[in-house]
Amino acid sequence: MPELAEVEYFRKQWDPGLGGKVETVLTHPKARIFRDIPAAAVRKGLQGRTLERSSTHGKQMMFEFSDGAWLGLHLGMTGKLFTADAGYEPVKSDHLVLVSGKRQLVFSDYRMFGKLTLDVSEDGSSPDWWANLPPRTLDRGFTKKYHAVFVRRFPRTPIKTLLLDQRGFPGIGNWMADEICWRLQIPPQTPSGKLSNEQVDAIWKMTRQVSRDAIRVIADDWSKPPNSWLFNHRWKDGGTCPRRGCKTDLQRADLRGRTTCWCPICQR
Ligand SMILES: [Zn+2]
Repeated sequence: MPELAEVEYFRKQWDPGLGGKVETVLTHPKARIFRDIPAAAVRKGLQGRTLERSSTHGKQMMFEFSDGAWLGLHLGMTGKLFTADAGYEPVKSDHLVLVSGKRQLVFSDYRMFGKLTLDVSEDGSSPDWWANLPPRTLDRGFTKKYHAVFVRRFPRTPIKTLLLDQRGFPGIGNWMADEICWRLQIPPQTPSGKLSNEQVDAIWKMTRQVSRDAIRVIADDWSKPPNSWLFNHRWKDGGTCPRRGCKTDLQRADLRGRTTCWCPICQR
C-alpha cells in the first residue's frame, strides 16, 4: 500500500495538468471508487474547472480546482495517477480521466480500494475533513510533546502497530514502521507503555528522519532505497539484516494483522 513518499510521487504525476482547464471528465460510474460520491457529481463538479494546485497529507491527496472545487483522492492498495497524451485510450482500470487540452490525467485502480471525494465550497475554503487532519510527521505541529502524548494513550499497543495508526502518524505504513523500529533497535512487539521516555523521543525523531529519507529517495523518481536500509531486505523470506557486522537472518511474522520484519539480534 502506498505510504507518504509513494503518495507524494503519484501526486506529482498530475503536475503537467496544472493550469489546464478540464474539458471532459470520463468515469466508470459503477466503479467502487465512487462509493462516497456518484460519478455523475464528479463529472459535473470538475467539468470546465482549472487545476490550480495539489498537496498530500499522509496517504491522502488533494487536488484543488478553480471556483472552490476540492478533489480528494486515496490510492488504496493499487491506485495510481499518471498523465497520458491525447492519443491514449483509457483501459478498464482507468476509472477517472480528466481530459485537458493535449493531456489526460488518469486515476487508475484495478483493485478499487482507492476512493475519491469532491467538495465544492462557495468561499473556496478547504473541506472540513481535510482541514481537521492531524499534523503530518514533518509538520511543525508534530512536536515531541504531541507525539509523546499520543504514544502514551495506547500503552498496550505494540509500537509497530501504533506507528501504523493514521490518527497519530499520517502516511506511515508497513515498511516505514518496520524501518523506524529497526533503525532504533527496538523490538516491534514492545508495548508502547514499556517504552522509556528516551525511547519515545527517539521514535519521534526517527519518524521524522525516515519520513524525510523516504520523500528524498522515492518521491521524485521512485528511486530504490539504498541497501543500508531495512527496506530492500524485508519483503520476502531469506533477507538478512543489513546492519554492518550483523547479517543475521531477518524474522517475519504477523503482528496484529500486518506482516512485520525485524532483526532478532539487533532488536532484542
Ligand atoms: Zn541485525
